[in-house]
Parts: sequence; C-alpha cells; structure tokens
Amino acid sequence: MSTGINYLDENWSVITGCTHAGSPGCDNCYARVSHERRHKAFLAGKKMPPQYAHPFSKVQFHPDRLDAPLHWRKPRNVGVVFGGDLFHGDVNENRRDAIFAAMLLAPEHKYFLLTKRAGDMARYANNIIAGERGLASAAAYELGRGILGALVIKSALLGWPPEHVYHGATCCTQPELDRNGPTMRGVPGKWWLSLEPLLGPVCFEDALGTDWQESQWRPSFVVVGSESGPNRRPCKLEWILSIVEQCKAAGVPCWVKQIPVPKVRDAEWFELDYSKHYFNAAQWDKACRQHGWRVSHDMAEWPEALRVRSMP
Ligand code: SF4
Repeated sequence: MSTGINYLDENWSVITGCTHAGSPGCDNCYARVSHERRHKAFLAGKKMPPQYAHPFSKVQFHPDRLDAPLHWRKPRNVGVVFGGDLFHGDVNENRRDAIFAAMLLAPEHKYFLLTKRAGDMARYANNIIAGERGLASAAAYELGRGILGALVIKSALLGWPPEHVYHGATCCTQPELDRNGPTMRGVPGKWWLSLEPLLGPVCFEDALGTDWQESQWRPSFVVVGSESGPNRRPCKLEWILSIVEQCKAAGVPCWVKQIPVPKVRDAEWFELDYSKHYFNAAQWDKACRQHGWRVSHDMAEWPEALRVRSMP
C-alpha cells in the first residue's frame, strides 16, 4: 500500500485497528479518524473493503498481506503497521512472530516499527534474543515457507539484532520521552523516535542521559513534525529547530516531516523573503500566533535551517 508519509515508500498494514494508548498523540489519531469514516460508509451500504465492516477498535490481522514484502522487487522503506499498533495487547503473539519472520525473510527492505507501547515492544524484542519466540515455525506455517524458511529464520536469529529492522516509539512530549527513551535504549539493535505530533519542547539529554550522543546509546533516526488535521494543536518552530540541532550535534539522521507556517494570504507570504524575515524561530512563532497557521509539507516554504530530511 502506498503511503502519504513522506519518509516511507510503503505502509505495510498487515494489522489494522487499535485503541487509545494513553498518549496525547492518540487524541487525534489519524488512522482512527480515517478508518471510522470508511466504517460509517460501510454501514451506510457503500461498497468498501471488508475490513471496514468493523470499527477501528477491533484489531484485525490481514493474512493476505503477510508475505507482501517478499514480493516487492526494489528495496523499500517500510512502515510496519502504521494504521494500528503491532504491540497492542489484542495482537496475537503468533501473528507478531509471523510478521517478524516475514521481515527476516525479506531483508532487502528497511522496516520501521512504531509503537506507543514501548515497554511491550522492548519485552518482545528481548524475548527474541532469549530464544522464546517461534519465528522459525511462523515462517514455516504462517508464511508457508516450509523447512527452508525455518532454516533461513534460524540463521537470521543467530545474527540478531538485524541491521534492517528499526524499533521505534512515538513521543509527543518530554514526559513521554523520559518514560520511553530509557526503554528504547534497552531494545536490542537499532531504534528510532517519532516526535510527531510534537506537543512540547524535548531535550534528549534529560531523557536519555548525558552519554546519549555515544553511538551505542543514540537513536538511529528521528522524525519530527507538527500535528496536522482539523483539530491540530499548536507546535512551536523553536521546538522543532531545537530537535534538528540536537540531532545534528549527535550525528543522528533527522527528518522534518511538516512544520507550522503563518497563515497569511499566500501572495503576501510569498512576497516576503521569509527565510530572512522569520529567520528567528521566536519571530516565526509570533507570526503564527498573530496570523493563525497552517501545516506545510513543502520545504520550499520553510526557513533554511529546517530543511532537513535524511534517512539512516
Ligand atoms: S497507538 Fe497509534 S494507532 Fe493506536 S490509537 Fe494511538 S495513535 Fe492511533
């Protein structure tokens, strides 16, 4: 499935559905809003895919999508279950094993897992190390790859953690980063942070410790962006700029997904040399407060210092 998420090539929606995880980031969940709109259309008799027979709160496994990565020819950046949460309590452990098995059988892609349940992700990832998961049998049975598939998985497990799987957690505020950051440091292998929607200022050192810039402790990737949608909450450019600068200092690839832009008439806006006019983030934020703001994904509208999009 193609994706509107500008750092991904694919959103692998092998699981859909979720419930509020207690994070402020769930309040305006885009996946929920979009699913519920289609569910309503289904109930009104419109022709919709069968997954929309159920509300978003029902976690659904889509077996027909399980082996999709094995059929993609070119290497892709894949978002794993961005229309739900792979670590929701209603996801059957055997299904989760099968999804990990598929990732190990198609290592040419990069997989970005993302959860708001970082503790459950860490427990699962550490159980793989401890050899408690049935990935090999999942490859053999769920994916129909037989003994050969099981052997490939067994050999991949010897080299665990894999280079192509990135465990990620969403943190919208400093308290969330304080809670999830140390947990993510305990996840074997590469890990990343999605600071979207960013709802407050964030300091990595406070959450991850003074040694956070050292290669074994730092995240492999950080995504940051303001909230979008009709109920979007304010985000200061200052907060985003600070994250870009912290990542730069630590050598961490950072992707600025979208930013708030003052909502003045477009003609007026484009006549300004805004990169100079609003070079100061505090001035930019003031302009957003005075004129209202919209969300921009277009880097041509952004100050130079924010035009940062690099992947690991
Ligand atoms: S965890 Fe993610 S998918 Fe689930 S409700 Fe929250 S924002 Fe939506």
